[in-house]
Amino acid sequence: MKRKLLVTTALPYANGSFHIGHIMEYIQADIWVRFQRMQGHTVHFVCADDAHGAPIMLKAEAEGVTPQQLIGRIGAERKQYLDGFHIGFDNWHSTESPENTELSQDIYRKLKVAGLIYTKPVEQFYDPVKGMFLADRYIKGECPKCGAKDQYGDACENCSSVYSPTNLINPYSTLSGAAPELKTSEHYFFRLSDAKCVDFLNKWVNEHGRLQSQVANKAKEWLEGKEDKALGDWDISRDAPYFGIPIPDAPGKYFYVWLDAPIGYLASFKNYCAKKGIDFDGFLADPQTEQIHFIGKDIIYFHTLFWPAMLKFAGYKIPNNVYVHGFITVSGEKMSKSRGTGISPLRYLEIGMNPEWLRYYIAAKLNANVEDLDFNPDDFIARVNSDLIGKYINIASRTFGFITRHFDGKTSSIELSDADADSFKDLIERHGEVRYGNPNSTIDRRSLTEITKLALKNDIAVLYDRREYSHAIRQIMFQADVANGFATLCAPWDMSKIVRGEWTPWKSDHLDKKIAEKLLHWSCSVLVDQFRLLTIYLKPILPETAAQAMRLLNMSSIEWAEESKHFPAGHSIRDYDRLMTRVEEKQLDALFDIPAAAPAKEQKKMTETSKVGSQSRSQAVPSPSTPHPTSPGPAAPTAPAETISIDDFARIDLRVAKIVRAEYVEGADKLLKLTLNIGAGERTVFAGIKSAYDPAALEGRLTVMVANLAPRKMKFGLSQGMVLAASGDAAGIYLLGVDSGAQPGMKVK
Ligand SMILES: [Zn+2]
Repeated sequence: MKRKLLVTTALPYANGSFHIGHIMEYIQADIWVRFQRMQGHTVHFVCADDAHGAPIMLKAEAEGVTPQQLIGRIGAERKQYLDGFHIGFDNWHSTESPENTELSQDIYRKLKVAGLIYTKPVEQFYDPVKGMFLADRYIKGECPKCGAKDQYGDACENCSSVYSPTNLINPYSTLSGAAPELKTSEHYFFRLSDAKCVDFLNKWVNEHGRLQSQVANKAKEWLEGKEDKALGDWDISRDAPYFGIPIPDAPGKYFYVWLDAPIGYLASFKNYCAKKGIDFDGFLADPQTEQIHFIGKDIIYFHTLFWPAMLKFAGYKIPNNVYVHGFITVSGEKMSKSRGTGISPLRYLEIGMNPEWLRYYIAAKLNANVEDLDFNPDDFIARVNSDLIGKYINIASRTFGFITRHFDGKTSSIELSDADADSFKDLIERHGEVRYGNPNSTIDRRSLTEITKLALKNDIAVLYDRREYSHAIRQIMFQADVANGFATLCAPWDMSKIVRGEWTPWKSDHLDKKIAEKLLHWSCSVLVDQFRLLTIYLKPILPETAAQAMRLLNMSSIEWAEESKHFPAGHSIRDYDRLMTRVEEKQLDALFDIPAAAPAKEQKKMTETSKVGSQSRSQAVPSPSTPHPTSPGPAAPTAPAETISIDDFARIDLRVAKIVRAEYVEGADKLLKLTLNIGAGERTVFAGIKSAYDPAALEGRLTVMVANLAPRKMKFGLSQGMVLAASGDAAGIYLLGVDSGAQPGMKVK
């Protein structure tokens, strides 16, 4: 039975570049899609940019461009990531598109006809200077409970109390600084609390196999109103000015971005269908078609409640499955959209790391549960080098050459006659006695031929289909272990020496040489076949390596269906050519941005200390290698660096910062922990200035900080930027000062 699948990943918000979390999700879905295609199923795999909403409108305004220009620029950079990590979407589209406008307005009209849309007045804060209503995140003020300043409209970071924006004392708009006014406007609602919606969702959520149990339970909690997020009606409108899709027959009203975002799945597919001549309506109307969404655990609410209900009551196909994954953490640190993470996917590619290492590593750690996945550099090195190179690639690198050197590149039959099996067994035993001091008495005819019958295909296929990738990889690596054990037993490297007369472990006669040659040919052919099988199993994860392996194997395809056939006897293979290199520790250092421009000596020191986490790219200044000097000599001036444009400089957000607190850090030789006030909130920065400053003398001082440096997880905590200081060749660190009168948060330019 051939399946028909429409597969999507969550739409990334088009106000910024991909982070490692996006790439993880795309890799998860891409592996699944490639696997399904290898089974002969039809799969359409699409995604799009989520382009609407106030954050994009405001960001574009701040940059002095139109929202379309902003999303155009972000959209244009997607390809390098997707190609770079071999993520094979059939189509990448945008929610700012005619298809999405048409589909969103159509779904809305049908929901209205179904009686599920109504309007009611909503009182909300309004910025009289910007002339727009303010979402909670654009309102700040003093906490009504503890009086802390600059708290967001929903909760206090100081005392953790929760409230609504209207409770704030002296509220102000973070967009203009103006005091917001309460203003009433008519909003459009989707009546999700309607009995027919609730009935439908209860059935949909509980249907066996539709959702992971953790996800179904979460959705049920919401449906049953056990949480404060109990199912209510959904406000789907926003007032102008808003970057979004106009609501039909409602001037000045736009769809809230979360209404049109998931519709972008269908818009992208529709756009693809038009290009490829596929019948969009026909494909979705086919009851055989499965609609499958891969998403992260932060957007379960939208995808298991609003989305299926919208589709159902607008008469569209409802999703078959929503597959939810956890977050990716880096060395245990949770990443977030606003703070970024320690790994830049683009940097990963730019420094020449193999994308398939990351695909393999992520697959090796992913299962079908909603669990977070931790990227750990040491674990990454171990998985790639020990498993991928040491087990899988190793099989090819140690066997192909013997076939090309001794047998003109032609494989032998893998079938083994009883007579050959007996003579091989005898030779292997004698070899084992000489080489390892004991004959391997456990081998018999059966154990020699068993490897040629190893068929894990069904297991592995089921595991892939269930997204149990880590389990599938354990199975695949188990088979690789068996193959490598077989290689050790048959020792082709020693047989080759016997054949060439380079090694005479015993008084071998002509017959021994003959058997050694036969064993060499047969064992290497078996191993080539094993390598082919493992390549089939790993192809969804390693498409590029599989393509190269196909070339070495001199085959026109590497497909799952060929799994049950043996390698043909007398087939010519090519000489081994390196398929994949080992990952080196210095590449991980480069990935985590330990400066490559530093002098060799400094570089080495930083590399070494980075292993224990005491050095960081966001640390303030390079730490001197000697204690504070008694008389610092004049430092030799260094040549200025190469010129940059004013735009390059403008990317660095320098701010006046007031050192509110400075503290020693237990266990740190060089660091002080600084708490900095930069106007809007406080930042923690670990600075390597302990040798030069007494913490007490720093408190109250003004200095300059880089406010938009990606935060860095350190052994002692999260460093959220860096302060500026001067240093030369001689020891000595000189923190920058700011003339009095400057206020924390002022921009330095
Ligand atoms: Zn408070």
